[in-house]
Amino acid sequence: MTEITKTDLMYQGKAKEMFATTDPETVWVHYMDQVTAFNGKKKVQMKGKGETNCRISSIIFSDLAAHGIENHFIKQLDSNNQLVKRVKIIPLETVVRNMASGSFERKFAAEHLMKFEKPVTEFFYKSDELDDPFINDSQAEALGVATPAQMDFMKQTALKVNDRLKAIFADMNIDLVDFKVEFGVDGDGKVILADEISPDSCRLIDRDTKKSLDKDVFRKGLGELVPVYEEILTRLEKAEEA
Ligand code: UDP
Repeated sequence: MTEITKTDLMYQGKAKEMFATTDPETVWVHYMDQVTAFNGKKKVQMKGKGETNCRISSIIFSDLAAHGIENHFIKQLDSNNQLVKRVKIIPLETVVRNMASGSFERKFAAEHLMKFEKPVTEFFYKSDELDDPFINDSQAEALGVATPAQMDFMKQTALKVNDRLKAIFADMNIDLVDFKVEFGVDGDGKVILADEISPDSCRLIDRDTKKSLDKDVFRKGLGELVPVYEEILTRLEKAEEA
């Protein structure tokens, strides 16, 4: 195979840049040393953040593929670049919750970290202007964002991701509170898991110290973020080796 190189910048996100490549089926993802919260209202440059998240997400997507969850990940190129399969991102965030936190806690005045008998699934419409509003299946269908079959597939797949992530993090002495995933449609019209899975998109709590090991450290100004992400990576590498 001839070497794939990046060409034009296609999309500049809040934490990643996506480039077209010499292969029309492949996209180059660059993880930036930047962290944002509150839909970009809080934004800081952080050295080492891109590298850490690129590695964490690469390990998790490889693990999910090995456990039968098809996704866009092809390979990690170097410290903060990946190649992924080109998909058209469906503008929905699929959230799975094992415990009450974040917007669920605020919306329902739920007890912080109340455990759910069954995981909760939710969809949010990706729109910075609208602040990513909650959206249900029929609203998404009416807007032409996704079909009911696609929504069902995303929900079921996100629940499978939840089962696997819970097991991975349990091996790291961590509880998975909630997380967000995104899906895209590939060239054959198939929906597959895409984007990233990292402490930017998960809530993680150390089982012993009960401390947050995710972006809540930044959202709530609890301290340095990169060392926390590095701690996740160290534990993840150890768990994956075992
Ligand atoms: N999340 C995310 N990107 C977003 C919004 C949420 O990755 O734009 C993740 C968040 O880190 C958490 C989960 O989705 O793990 C649920 O987030 P929630 O709805 O509680 O929103 P928040 O209070 O974090 O804005």
